[in-house]
Amino acid sequence: MALTVESLPQGPVQANTHIITDTVTGKIAVVDAGDCTAYLKERLQGRQVEYILLTHGHFDHILGVAALKELTDAEVCIHAADADCLSSEEKSLCSWECAGQQTPIVPDRLLHEGDVISLGESVLHVLHTPGHTKGGVCYADYENRILFTGDTLFCLTAGRTDFPGGSDEELLASLIRLRNLDGDFTVYTGHNRVTTLNQERMRNRYMRRIGQ
Ligand SMILES: [Zn+2]
Ligand SMILES: [Zn+2]
Repeated sequence: MALTVESLPQGPVQANTHIITDTVTGKIAVVDAGDCTAYLKERLQGRQVEYILLTHGHFDHILGVAALKELTDAEVCIHAADADCLSSEEKSLCSWECAGQQTPIVPDRLLHEGDVISLGESVLHVLHTPGHTKGGVCYADYENRILFTGDTLFCLTAGRTDFPGGSDEELLASLIRLRNLDGDFTVYTGHNRVTTLNQERMRNRYMRRIGQ
């Protein structure tokens, strides 16, 4: 069993879209879609896209979802607490930065802590990690040691907590939870570059501050 991950920055502030492929079946999930660029469409052409997995509901991660859904008919999944972002430019903060650009969409599946998503032979586990938003999630593949952290954990930093729904306490609890996962993971973040959980345990100023 294996997953391959291709990351491409897209959308108004270049949030990462991750194309995940289960290598056994060729089935695909797309994590976050701040846009649906010609390049993304080309990469997905003729391939079976099962899911659009959202890490949270901010506009920079969802503006491409409506177009991607139309293209692929994949199941749009978002945590229940962020679901209304998909129909509200106020909630997604789109109204702050790019009013009028969000096409409302109804999610197909509302996620909760502990949910499991099967992608061919691979399995992704939903970790509810609020703090940046109320409905922020990470997706963990324990078998292949891969973690998608959205705007919860970045390389050497962590997500902002000063937007509506943000909370320092919740973000800290979420970071503690990630730090305490067993073993190392490759960490695909919502912005900027890929990292590993071990590197963040050692060098990330938020994780270091948590103590033992
Ligand atoms: Zn965000
Ligand atoms: Zn973001």
